[in-house]
Amino acid sequence: MAMADPVPSQGPDKLRALGIVALNGMFDEMDAEGVLRQAAEDILPADLALVSSFGADSAVLLHIVSRVDPSLPVYFLETGKHFAETLEYVEQLKAELGLTNVIAVVPDPADLARFDPTGELWETDPDSCCHIRKTEPLEKVLSGYGGWVTGRKRFQTAERGVLPHFELTSDNRIKVNPLAYYTHDDIEAYKHRYGLPDHPLYHQGYKSIGCAPCTSAVAEGEDPRAGRWRGLDKRECGIHFDFNGQIAPTRKQAGKTKEMRLFKNGGFMADPWTDWVEALDPAEASYTHVPLDVFVAHREAFIASPHPLGLRVDPGHRVEDVEADMARFSSVAISFPAFGDGRGFSSARLVRERFGFQGEVRAVGDILADQVPFLRRCGIDAFVVANPATRQALENDAFAEVSLYYQPVGTRAEVPVGTRPFLRRALADA
Ligand code: SF4
Repeated sequence: MAMADPVPSQGPDKLRALGIVALNGMFDEMDAEGVLRQAAEDILPADLALVSSFGADSAVLLHIVSRVDPSLPVYFLETGKHFAETLEYVEQLKAELGLTNVIAVVPDPADLARFDPTGELWETDPDSCCHIRKTEPLEKVLSGYGGWVTGRKRFQTAERGVLPHFELTSDNRIKVNPLAYYTHDDIEAYKHRYGLPDHPLYHQGYKSIGCAPCTSAVAEGEDPRAGRWRGLDKRECGIHFDFNGQIAPTRKQAGKTKEMRLFKNGGFMADPWTDWVEALDPAEASYTHVPLDVFVAHREAFIASPHPLGLRVDPGHRVEDVEADMARFSSVAISFPAFGDGRGFSSARLVRERFGFQGEVRAVGDILADQVPFLRRCGIDAFVVANPATRQALENDAFAEVSLYYQPVGTRAEVPVGTRPFLRRALADA
């Protein structure tokens, strides 16, 4: 395996000209091979690298690389802590797929001597261990490229749930995620179609594979990533965590762990989205919920911005004013400043039912536990609430079944209370 040798970047000039939003729009429907081919041949020729863990799912993306350009630089983070089976798998895939440019990236020996002389840092401080073994070495290598390819997928974690094909980093490099829309079944079907070998540990229950000390097998039906850093509040090694696209600092360097304020997909989690602040430049806003009136006032700047954007709807805002722009948003946050104010329910229904918005719609504010089932009926699928009783109810899924409604929603056939008998019969038969 060759050792890392930084390559000077040409800079993603073409990408900047096109704009990341246009790029995602143009190639949103394209399959993974098409996305990678565009990136490698047209957008960033000779300025693109791939980072692979050679883990449980890696064969799919590496196979696509072999079809597009087997000489594309593929960087493997050789942390010195891998399973022997992973190192064998690297050699097996190189040989079987004909990959000619797989490069091991190793930690700085001076860092190891200084910070991890006994090799046990993973046990006492895994964030720092990942930082010196993965983040820093990779940052050095990738600084020489205009962009890099990752194997991340939306289904893997809630944090990755809005992952697009292309992301622009805050230092104007691009991350390409050809498999962003792949599901677990897609991965399995692809491996089967091309007869790709599984990682040797895959059938021993290792569904997501990283360094040996930090990886355990998962039980049947368990989240595939549950075996990574099991028992710790750690889900990423750091190299993908920053939603602005920069290689992330560890949580210690960042100063604090983000508050687990978002309830989604059955649990509380760190919220990748931030609240709008007045001084923010529309061109810089990223993973921010922009108030609807601010968006309307600076519409052109927000539309031209390359960054992922959310919409905040407060009482009094007319969501109809942004109906034509809904595709620009990845998330919609509807405010409920007081529990007696029901205008947010109407906004949620318009967004979901009339506009057909498919992304996240979250309720934010003073929400009582009793309101949660009704909000869900209106299309709300995430909650940011401070009320301790509501948080407790969400955590325990302690909601009474609501069987009678005064207002039906358009997403399902329901029999509203007070409906005349012949209409009730007609709805019940529908
Ligand atoms: S995954 Fe574990 S062993 Fe590997 S670099 Fe991170 S903390 Fe260290």
